[in-house]
Amino acid sequence: MTRTVIRTCPLCEATCGLRLELDADDRVVSVRGDEQDVFSAGYLCPKGATIGELEADPDRLTTPRIRRDGQLVEATWQEAYAEVARRLQAVQAAHGHEAVALYLGNPNVHNLSGQLYVRPLAKALQTPNISSASSVDQLPKHVACGYLFGDPLAIPVPDIDRTELLVVLGGNPRVSNGSLMTAPDLPGRLNALRRRGGRLVVVDPVRTRTAERADQHLAIRPGADVWLLLAVIETLASEGLVDPGDHLTDHLDGLEEVLALAAPFTAERVAAACGLHAEEIRGLARELAATPRAVVYGRLGTSTVPFGTVTSWLVDVVNVLTGNLDRPGGAMFPLPAHHRSPRRPFRHARRHSRVRGLPEAIGELPVAGLIDEMTTPGPGQVRALITVAGNPVLSTPEGARLDAALADLDLVIAVDPYVTATTRHADVLLPPPAILQRPHYDLAFTALAVRNVANHSPAAVPLAEGQPDEWEILLTLAAIALGQQPPVDVEVADAFVLQQAVAGVVADPGARLATRDPDEVVAALAGRRGPERLLDLLLRAGPYGDGFGTHPDGLSLAALEAQPHGVDLGPLTPRVPGVLATASGRIELAPAAIVADLERVARHLDAVDATAATASDPGDRRPLVLVGRRHLRTNNSWSHNLPGLAKGQQLCTLQLHPEDAAVRGVVDGGQAVVRSAAGSVTAEVEVTDRLRPGVVSLPHGFGHDLEGVELSVARARGGANANVLSSRSEVDAVSGNAVLNGIEVQVAPA
Ligand code: SF4
Repeated sequence: MTRTVIRTCPLCEATCGLRLELDADDRVVSVRGDEQDVFSAGYLCPKGATIGELEADPDRLTTPRIRRDGQLVEATWQEAYAEVARRLQAVQAAHGHEAVALYLGNPNVHNLSGQLYVRPLAKALQTPNISSASSVDQLPKHVACGYLFGDPLAIPVPDIDRTELLVVLGGNPRVSNGSLMTAPDLPGRLNALRRRGGRLVVVDPVRTRTAERADQHLAIRPGADVWLLLAVIETLASEGLVDPGDHLTDHLDGLEEVLALAAPFTAERVAAACGLHAEEIRGLARELAATPRAVVYGRLGTSTVPFGTVTSWLVDVVNVLTGNLDRPGGAMFPLPAHHRSPRRPFRHARRHSRVRGLPEAIGELPVAGLIDEMTTPGPGQVRALITVAGNPVLSTPEGARLDAALADLDLVIAVDPYVTATTRHADVLLPPPAILQRPHYDLAFTALAVRNVANHSPAAVPLAEGQPDEWEILLTLAAIALGQQPPVDVEVADAFVLQQAVAGVVADPGARLATRDPDEVVAALAGRRGPERLLDLLLRAGPYGDGFGTHPDGLSLAALEAQPHGVDLGPLTPRVPGVLATASGRIELAPAAIVADLERVARHLDAVDATAATASDPGDRRPLVLVGRRHLRTNNSWSHNLPGLAKGQQLCTLQLHPEDAAVRGVVDGGQAVVRSAAGSVTAEVEVTDRLRPGVVSLPHGFGHDLEGVELSVARARGGANANVLSSRSEVDAVSGNAVLNGIEVQVAPA
């Protein structure tokens, strides 16, 4: 006997609907795409197909661990919480709240409890030392959108189903399945674009799977997108092609300033630095201007570089100048179903990190500064770290040094289902429930979706006797951080969280609950608890919500539960000026904080030119430039422990061009040592002409073969930790985001 469960896949940003068959013991016996899902219509990728393996992974923890005599041993939840209270409160008492740091991994944005209950934990810790995977990824985009539109979460996404020209910079959506662009079945959507006569242009140093099926591939040098985009703007200006469109004209500030700033960066001036021909750059600008529905989309390769914020900003500047922002077929702002807090004009760099003065952004400090905060003595030194679903040893710069620094901390607490390269340092390890034991709703990704949708999945498998839900673990940690002793009454803590949320919603004049009596709202939410109660509130107060009766046909959690395949809320619609939260109420096209970094952009261009002038042929022994890459079967450091994903392949290879391999004497299938200023790793070589000469590629998220890691499959598979090579000193100046792409390396036979 099996039963069918319909739920959203949480393993990447695409949010596909799954149709699972579970046996009498709640084991997943089959996985298919849900053909009735309103968004994914049956699409399933190899990652999603392994969700059963993930649920049944024997290495996944179900019992807490405590360190005793140097070993992580099993403990009861009561023992684990008591240990947290004893040691966390001791660190706080001895060194202050700032001595405890919090690191959040990116699975938190794929998880309803992570989305709704990490914030109470962060507030309870009362520490400035909060960082997340955002600052090794998309933080520059948040900062750029914060300045442009006043809201760091107002990120325009390609209206991919209606565009006629999609220009992808530094992204590989056929493999990533979308990033800062939620769109199930991206391969199908890209095929549809070309079938309807549209064009796909990919700008990338690597002939990725997206590039090889594009109409045009511009094999740019790593990190040069910033000059390319400036030259596109200069071309638009000098050829009289700037036209933001009537819909934006009255909502723009700084247009002339942007055009003047781009003037020195002609296509001819930047072509060599970009490794492209000037006519290719001008041609791109002309095509963007001439195509009625066009959009530029930039992803990781535009973000994890020295000019990440400037580049992310320029992507949207080009969309504005070509009339493609906030227009069907261009870059549009989704309108998710949940209520969002009232927006205040974006504020940035409200504080700085103690040691290196890195700026705060979106409430966090850049993780590139974490090692220094741990290892530099003085008031405020970090003595304890709490990680929630994070593996910074593999995903943040100078992973080997961070590994050593973690070993010297007074206390490490991890909320994590695995003993990983990071959590093997834990003194207390608290495993959250499995995926199918949790309700699921994508708060983050519906705000990045190419179509407005809402889709809720109730928990499909019950918690075991005495097993806490993840939100209960997080609230217990929060209460302990505030000085309580376990056992913590999570119902009381949750009631407080709800009251705070209701108070925020009824105070928002834009919410469908505005001015309602908070007690009445709380009472109307009775019968639910935890994240589903909060979700019900957010849905009912949101732009499509039932307003607790004011809009009877509107959304509520109950309405979503009645629609297991999701609710389609329609195509994206124009949202300017309502979406804008800048102080001026307009799009601020030339924000001073970003514009100030253009001087560094110009200096860097001169330096690249000078290097090129003294270099000989591309096959010489100049340093190579390292870029990352994605694989369809993995997502960062996730999924590496699943036997079904690698199929015997080594996924973590060092790719390099045949010319570069020949000069350095490394051979396909052999081992090579890769050295940067920060460290060195050894990796298996894959010789391929997919990369332009001078560029090498190593995926991130590998390096599980460290002593103490309990990931039996991932350990055996091996693979180098690419973040041993990245330097914590190299950051995007505006946002503090780590530079993970464009690192100079030397390669030699091992
Ligand atoms: S594309 Fe992403 S969401 Fe869809 S099945 Fe694959 S992993 Fe899951």
